[in-house]
Amino acid sequence: MHRHFVIHASNLTKIKFCDTEYYNTKGIYELPFPTNPTNGKHDYNECKGCQTTLRNFIINVNKKLESFPDCCEYHKNLKTLSYFNKQDFVRLADSIALKGIYARQHITNNLDKEDWYLDITNYLEYTIHSFGSFPEGFGEPFLFAAFLHDLLDFLNSNINTFPKQKIQKLIEFVTGYTTTKNVSKTDFNVLMSTYEKWLKIFPFELSFFKGAKEYFIQNIPILKSKPVYNPYLNISKAELQDKESLIKVLIERTNYLLTHINSFVLHEKGLINDPDSIKLEFVIKERKMKLEQGYVNLVKDEGEKYRKIIKEWFEDEKKFIDEIKPLLKNLESQKTQTKYDPPPDKISSIKNNFDRVSILEVFNHFKKGLIDKGFISEKELIEYIKQAFDKKIAPEILFRFTDVHSKQKVIKVFYDYYKNVAGKPHRQQTKYVELLSNYFEGYITQNVKTNFNK
Ligand SMILES: [Zn+2]
Ligand SMILES: [Zn+2]
Repeated sequence: MHRHFVIHASNLTKIKFCDTEYYNTKGIYELPFPTNPTNGKHDYNECKGCQTTLRNFIINVNKKLESFPDCCEYHKNLKTLSYFNKQDFVRLADSIALKGIYARQHITNNLDKEDWYLDITNYLEYTIHSFGSFPEGFGEPFLFAAFLHDLLDFLNSNINTFPKQKIQKLIEFVTGYTTTKNVSKTDFNVLMSTYEKWLKIFPFELSFFKGAKEYFIQNIPILKSKPVYNPYLNISKAELQDKESLIKVLIERTNYLLTHINSFVLHEKGLINDPDSIKLEFVIKERKMKLEQGYVNLVKDEGEKYRKIIKEWFEDEKKFIDEIKPLLKNLESQKTQTKYDPPPDKISSIKNNFDRVSILEVFNHFKKGLIDKGFISEKELIEYIKQAFDKKIAPEILFRFTDVHSKQKVIKVFYDYYKNVAGKPHRQQTKYVELLSNYFEGYITQNVKTNFNK
């Protein structure tokens, strides 16, 4: 099948959607192409009735050609297109007349088939496409309406000869093409902007849905059904959503995402480690949605309206601040706690020549007991570990704790290290006491020893 297209640029709308450009097809000029008949029991070549009809069709086509394109206001516009050539249609006159005969023959021969409906509608669609198209505003394809009309006449006049229910279904199918409803229903622009709106409103920024947006940008639910292959046209076709059915899909999708990915489900799976930052995200997103939605009020009086709107805004702001304040505080203290997370580069060169505990464990234990309590800085602790565990030599100037109100608290950190981290090695308690008393000012071995396990 050879198809001849011209894309009529001025009628072509470019749609920008999520940084990708699409073209809609309202601006296509396509010449009709001849269709092929299918074989079967009934053969129009040998049927007197069909031959008469064909002769009439040819007369009609030629009659129409006499006035075309001056036949109507719309077709008259065709003369302004540089690529319009009436001779193309004159040349195709016979093939246009044959389309109707072939369609009648295909219906007659295939009504008994198991997949009769799919097969016949595929052939009819192929025939419908074969009429080509004019850009929007340039009228219907040449003799397209006449073809549909004749086909309906044929079906109606055979409603008692053929299986009635089948003919009625085909009448329904053809009638669908005679109403303009079908055309406006599938406005691509409307679908795309409906979808884009959903993408914008759905809270994809939440870390829950991270990565999902990319998927939904690529997978636009623009088709109502799975594509069905049409062997006559050699293309797969699917029905486009209309706005209502798309919205229905998007509501289902929203519901699915919200019910399958949420705090409860993640908690059940043990995936919530940081509830404060998740809640903070919720609170912020909720506020953002409200701000995007804007403030409206139905009160009639203007002054009253403004006041009400502003009052509502104040309430929301206060609520928002109240909600984020504790969360921010918690997150801030978590941050300061984790600020000293193991600095592997700083301790990796230190060796433990003192006992068998890893340096990271040594560091973590004393970090918790000394740095986090504010007794010593990270720099000092690392320096201490170097001296006490690696070199095993006391520095000339001993280390000092700051802000210690009870020496016992410090002693306990060292006792815990001896008992819990090192595993209370047999007969080595003094060695562990000296980890404190040999290196820090103000701690005497004997005193520490006496108070070690208190
Ligand atoms: Zn016939
Ligand atoms: Zn016309």
